[in-house]
Amino acid sequence: MTARGPELFISDLHLSPHEPGTFRRFRDFLAGPARSAARLTLLGDLFDAWAGDDDLADPFNAAVVRELRALVAAGVPVDFVAGNRDFLVGADFAAASGASLLPDPCLREVAGIATLLTHGDTLCTDDADYQRFRAEVRSPAWRAEFLARPLAERKRLIEQLRQRSETEKQGKAMRLMDVNAHAVAALLREYAAASLIHGHTHRQARHAIDVAGRACVRWALGDWTGERGTALACTTEGCRFLA
Ligand code: MN
Repeated sequence: MTARGPELFISDLHLSPHEPGTFRRFRDFLAGPARSAARLTLLGDLFDAWAGDDDLADPFNAAVVRELRALVAAGVPVDFVAGNRDFLVGADFAAASGASLLPDPCLREVAGIATLLTHGDTLCTDDADYQRFRAEVRSPAWRAEFLARPLAERKRLIEQLRQRSETEKQGKAMRLMDVNAHAVAALLREYAAASLIHGHTHRQARHAIDVAGRACVRWALGDWTGERGTALACTTEGCRFLA
């Protein structure tokens, strides 16, 4: 039996054919550090946009899926929590990549600590407009209606949503785009968890927080859109950022 390395967590790669450098770093990461990992968990926005699982035939999407499949075939389980950019990922993606789709949030013991895994967008409760939009597009009715449209039309609409998200980000106060401290505390209390790992905000940091007298930790993952990739690595000794 091979000794297994740490559990790895990554998010917000925003993979797209327009960013070949990010795809190369992703591929190198999967062929490198991830190969000896006990597990790799993707915490959302792996893709910059996802119009539906019938877009698996797209050469770029197929290349990403191939890399994940190779990692799973090498014996590393891969878990996937959807982000706001790739929330339309479904069962066909899971079957093709070998990744397991997890609900958001998901409770898991990490480094011996009850830990919540989430993309993180639900915690940005100060942004009421975004939360309304999210509730709409995450409803089963919206999803069914949207996925019934032709792929070409969906790709156009998803691209419009992506551009709108980018434009709105420019005009929004930084505070609106970060997690709300009360929402974080409420979630940790609800699940009796002591640790939270999330992406979405792109603000890599370890935050020590007090939740009703309990010492808890919030790990915010960094994004991959700059010149580097980053990951959180957790062992029985604890967690640390790899870059
Ligand atoms: Mn996001």
